[in-house]
Amino acid sequence: MRVLLVEDDALLGDGVRAGLKQAGFAVDWAQDGQAAKLALETEEYALMVLDLGLPKLSGTELLKWLRGRHSKLPVLILTARDTVSDRVAGLNAGADDYLIKPFDLDELIARLNALLRRSAGQVTQSLQHTDIELTPSTHQVSKNGKIIELSGREFALLHELLLHVGRVKSREQLEQHLYGWGEEVESNSVEVHIHHLRKKLGAELIRTLRGVGYVIDKQVDTNVL
Ligand code: CA
Repeated sequence: MRVLLVEDDALLGDGVRAGLKQAGFAVDWAQDGQAAKLALETEEYALMVLDLGLPKLSGTELLKWLRGRHSKLPVLILTARDTVSDRVAGLNAGADDYLIKPFDLDELIARLNALLRRSAGQVTQSLQHTDIELTPSTHQVSKNGKIIELSGREFALLHELLLHVGRVKSREQLEQHLYGWGEEVESNSVEVHIHHLRKKLGAELIRTLRGVGYVIDKQVDTNVL
């Protein structure tokens, strides 16, 4: 999952970026409103974490601009404790959720995962496909009830494919989800992660469309046939 983090506080931004990366998100960090706007115009994100008090362009202004373009990008705003009016303005401008600083990193991650589920139309806690279950909140994957150990990027890749079952994702799209700005993309890394996922979860899980991308096919309900 690729996240745009917009925060001008260097220390806080660095901490949040590190925490999100550890949770398996690819993070792009913009430090002012204009940089964030540029990023939103050129990149595709699954989520945005947005501080409201920003140089150049405020978080509320950025949000109004984004919603004016009919973007449905899930947005969580970060606000200071004593600024109720800011928070209300942010929610009115189209934020989906908010956290008050200082906040707990685990809570931020839990809320981001909840936003992701909502935006994908998922109501349940975990994603299920055949005998495979992925739970974002605990970062756990199981097959037939047995926990399978995955690396952060393997998890992110599987999560992205499971959120869009039946939709083909190109290698470039998957790379975008795995890597943030400034991170070097290792060549063939998507292929390598897919290879590992197949080894751990079954060769038939992810289908390769040569020259196009990868897909987890919709489950065929055998009772209907
Ligand atoms: Ca700020």
